[in-house]
Parts: sequence; C-alpha cells; structure tokens
Amino acid sequence: MNSELHQYEVIVIGGGHAGTEAALAAARMGRRTLLVTQSIETLGQMSCNPAIGGIGKGHLVREIDALGGLMARGADHAGIQFRTLNGSKGPAVRATRAQADRILYKAFVRSALENQPNLDLFQQEVEDLIVEGGGVAGVVTRMGLRFSAPAVVLTTGTFLGGRIHIGLSNYQGGRAGDAPSNALSARLRELMPRTGRLKTGTPPRLDGRTIDWAALQEQPGDDPRPVFSFLGSQADHPRQVPCHITHTNEQTHEIIRSGFDRSPMFTGVIEGVGPRYCPSVEDKVNRFRDKTSHQIFLEPEGLTTHEIYPNGISTSLPYDVQERFVRSMKGLEQARIVRPGYAIEYDYFDPRDLHRSLETMTLSGLFFAGQINGTTGYEEAAAQGLLAGINAARHARGEPAWVPQRHESYIGVLVDDLVSRGTTEPYRMFTSRAEHRLLLREDNADLRLTPQGRELGLVDEARWAAFERKREAIAAERGRLQELWLKPAQLSQPEMVAVFGAAPVSSGLSGLDLLRRPEGSYAVLKDLGLAPADLDAAVAEQVEIQCKYAGYIERQQLEIDRARRYEEAPLPPDFDYRAVAGLSNEVRQKLIDHRPDTVAQAGRISGITPAAVSLLLIHLKKAG
Ligand code: FAD
Repeated sequence: MNSELHQYEVIVIGGGHAGTEAALAAARMGRRTLLVTQSIETLGQMSCNPAIGGIGKGHLVREIDALGGLMARGADHAGIQFRTLNGSKGPAVRATRAQADRILYKAFVRSALENQPNLDLFQQEVEDLIVEGGGVAGVVTRMGLRFSAPAVVLTTGTFLGGRIHIGLSNYQGGRAGDAPSNALSARLRELMPRTGRLKTGTPPRLDGRTIDWAALQEQPGDDPRPVFSFLGSQADHPRQVPCHITHTNEQTHEIIRSGFDRSPMFTGVIEGVGPRYCPSVEDKVNRFRDKTSHQIFLEPEGLTTHEIYPNGISTSLPYDVQERFVRSMKGLEQARIVRPGYAIEYDYFDPRDLHRSLETMTLSGLFFAGQINGTTGYEEAAAQGLLAGINAARHARGEPAWVPQRHESYIGVLVDDLVSRGTTEPYRMFTSRAEHRLLLREDNADLRLTPQGRELGLVDEARWAAFERKREAIAAERGRLQELWLKPAQLSQPEMVAVFGAAPVSSGLSGLDLLRRPEGSYAVLKDLGLAPADLDAAVAEQVEIQCKYAGYIERQQLEIDRARRYEEAPLPPDFDYRAVAGLSNEVRQKLIDHRPDTVAQAGRISGITPAAVSLLLIHLKKAG
C-alpha cells in the first residue's frame, strides 16, 4: 500500500461513544482523521442500557450538542420514549432522558461517521503504539499495518484485558460477543505509570413476548415531549412506546441470597471495584438488607426487536439463579432470558496521569478518553471523546490545548474531577458535582458553549445561524418585556391577583419584573394577551429562567469571579513547596506529586485543605 495513504493528523482507536465523538470533532476541525476500530458493525454500540441522558448525564449530552457533537441528535433520531426528570424541580437539576432504539442509534452514528468529510474508517484491532522521541507517532494493527499521526486518541472502553464473569465461570472478552484487547493492554501497562482494574455489570435481557404486560404498571413518556438537540424537533423522533414497571420482592431477594456462595463478587473472584451508584442487584440485596423490594423498569430495546432491558437487575450471579430470580417477579413468571447478565473487569489508567487536555503525561500526543479513564456511562465517555478529539486536533497543528473550566460546563467539572482527584471506582456525573449548577443548566448549554465551539471550528453554518437567531430572539424579547409596563389600574381583579399576588403594588411593574415574581410566568403573560403568539418555546423558557433566577445567578457569578482570582494565581512548574511555611509533610508531598498549575487546582486535589490553600496564597503574596 502507498504509505501516503497511511498518514493522518489524528488517529482515534475505538468506535464506541468516546471514539466516535473524538473522530467527528477532529474531522469537523478539518484534520485528516482515521477511526480504527475492531468492528465497523459495532460503531456507536450501547454496551448496556439503551438510554441516553438522565440527571447530570443529560447536561453533558446538551453540552456535547452545543459544541456540534453527535450524541443528542442520535438520541433524537433513535429515542422511543422521552422524559424530563426532576420536571417539577428547579431548572438546574431538570434533565432529559431518552430511551433509545439501539439499532436506530447505531445506524445514525454509523451514517454520520461515513458521511463526515476528512474522516476515514478502518476495521482492525490496534495492537501497538509507535513511539518516537518521547511522543506517540502512530499505531500498528493486528495484521502489522502501520498508520502514522502526531496525535492518537485511545478510547478502548472495557476492552483492555477484559474478563467476563457469570457465576464462578469467567472468560476473556471486551463485552459479550466481542474479543478483548490484550496485546494493547500489555503494551499500555508497560508505558503507563498507574493502572488498576474496575468492573461493571449488565442485566439479563428478556423476550418481551414472554412477559405478562397486562399485570404491569405502564409508564408512558412525557407530554409535552422533550427534544434533546438544540437543532432537533419532535419530527425527528420515531414512534414512541411506553416502559413498564415491576418490583423485586422478598422471594426474589431470597433466591438472590441463595446464589451468594457462587457469586464472583462475594467469593473474591472479581477484584475490580464496581459503580457505587449503579450497583448489581446482589449488591443492593446485600447492602440494603431492610429493603424488601426494589423498583425495576422494563425498557424496550427497540421498535423492531422483542428484547427487553430490565433496568435495576444488573447481575453476575450464576445463570440458574438469574433465571429463578427473574421469574419470581410480577409479570415475569414465564419470562425467557435471551442474553444472560454478566459482569466485566477491565484495565483503566489513573486519570491523574493526564493533563487537562486529556493528553497523557507519559507520551506527548497520546490522549485517553472514556471508560479507560475510570468513568462509566456513554455520556461521560462521549464528553471526554469530544474534548480529546478537539485537543488531538489542536496538538496535530501545534496549537495550545483547549481546557473547559468548572464554572463553564459539566465537561469542565468532569475533566477537572478526574485529573485532580483521580478515581478508585467507576465515576459518573451528577449535578451535585458542580459548584455552580444554577449556571450550568441543560437549557443554556448552547449559550454557554456554542460560541466557543464556533471559534474552535466545531460548529457548522447551520448550527451557528440557528444559535444566532435564538440569541437575538432572547435579547429582543427581553427588550420588549423591559418596555412593557403593567399598571394595576389596567387589570381586572383576577388579573391583579395573577400578576401581583396577594399583596398588590400601586406603581405597576415591567414585564421583566413580572417574570421575576413568584407568580409571574409566560402562562400569566399569555392569559393577559401579552405574550407574542409566535414566540419560540425555547426563547420563552430562557427569558423566564434568566428573570426568575437572576438574583441567584448573579450571586453564583460573583462567587466564580472571586474563585477566578485564585485561578489566576499561577504555581510555576519549579515552585518550591518546601519553602511554604506551615504546610504539613503530607500536603507538601501531594503538591509535589501533582504539581498543580494554579492555586485553584491545588485546592481541588483530594486532601488539600482550605487552610493549605490559604498558606499557599500568603506565600505567593509575600513572594510577589
Ligand atoms: P466502548 O463503548 O466500550 O467502546 C470501545 C470501542 O473500542 C469498541 O468499539 C471496541 O471495539 C473498540 N476497541 C477496543 N480495543 C480496541 C483496539 N485495540 N483496537 C481497535 N478498537 C478497539 N454504563 C453506564 O452508564 N451504566 C451501566 O450500568 C453500564 N453497565 C455496563 C455493563 C457492561 C457489561 C458494559 C460492557 C458496559 C457498561 N457501561 C455502563 C458502560 C458503558 O458501556 C461505557 O461507559 C461506554 O460504552 C464507554 O464508552 P467508551 O467509548 O469508552 O467505550
């Protein structure tokens, strides 16, 4: 083959959720990109639950979308049930979740990849990295093909040294049905300083034709139905279907307990740590002994399959126990298992050995994204993939890294948490991880990030035009409401109560003031005939949230500005921590090990107390 054909600017290894976003981002930025993956058939495959979004995760999906990424559009085109979680709570914690048809999702991802300019796909396992002069220079595939690039993004998910467990039997595998990646695992163990094993699990899948649906509680999607992408609409959604709910019971728990002596988790066969917030059913039964029942959602895997995903019974118990405990639940008495549940153990690498760009500290030009960094979840993987793809693209042309900050995005929170604190269990996103979550809402992800995405070369003309239209419409509507003056004398008694509440004011108020009041909303403006009939719902939502939470938002902004003064206090690479008076030996050692770039980063290292941060600031002040 012509060696020219083997030269790229960015190579991405792995076509899961991290790899696809990484490859698309680098290619959108105009870099000649190669995505090399074990199987073209499994591009965009959902290894576990067929769902995208949820609390914290939905926020990441909207941010990926705001930066021109794929996941939200994929969810819109494959979503067969949409819900807004926490719909009755404040806007910071409201989150979109879509049940996805996994076949439609995969098809959407593959089509996007195949039609992306600057992107080549290649099916082959990567077995080795080409290393030259302290940096990565390319990859070597199983059949010995060499592809070169100054930047390589590794997104191999659960495949490195993957071992699948069902009861006390176990075998090598990247996930059920796929081979593990062992040669690359061995090579990376040589190269990377800190590595460990984690585990995750999945439930058995059921044949929907053997479930007694009539006995079960139905859970329909939400009306009005949310849309994921800022460019999406309900017209993108395929046919919608309901989920159903059943429960475990005392008999289920008894059967599960009877399998503990053959459980790889409880007999010490599995060494890797599992996800605390997504425990296996045996873990739940063991840990929450006083609970006699757990809710289980029966989620369709797609519109063209009978397979059902029973969400909440992830397990690695022996198959005979799985069969018995499934059948002990209401509606599942005759249920037939199509695929057994299993756990998988895999290698991950300590993310504290990464820069904030997701480039490894060990090899220049080598980036890690996704499950390999100790995270769990499609959304967390996709967010890292996007970031690593951007920075690989920038590295390839000698440009400085782009690092999103904690106060700007959940992507910033994710990368900062991983790189500063590391993780000893699979990390997933929650809204509680963000200090400034009122600013980091799903609804304003585009306002926060699309301008940056445009500068980075990630946002195309169509998205940019739609964004500008929305931004202008928000400004125009705010201007209109500022001018709109409501006087009590103009209103009837019921209207007075709707506008002013129980304690009327005599001087009147503006439309903006009205939205700031607890009683104020677009619904009230509409009732008064004071809302434009053609006002876009997303614009109205944005204006209402901006008004209603203005006080809190301003306060959070002040906190951020104060914290940024820390951010601006740099700690040079040769900073002498021994010269800082009052630091304990332990704190001093941690700072020497981590070598944070700024005081703010130092403060986020686990074990670095606010008192230690104050000592650093005092020292810097004296020295300066
Ligand atoms: P993956 O989606 O795993 O993609 C990795 C890709 O790399 C694959 O395409 C693979 O073929 C390719 N690849 C691997 N090695 C090579 C190589 N050497 N050369 C070329 N290509 C290679 N997440 C949750 O949020 N909740 C859960 O409950 C949950 N349970 C899970 C249960 C199981 C059994 C598994 C397997 C995963 C589970 N996950 C769960 C995790 C979720 O699937 C991952 O977080 C997500 O898919 C990670 O994305 P990724 O892109 O990092 O890796």
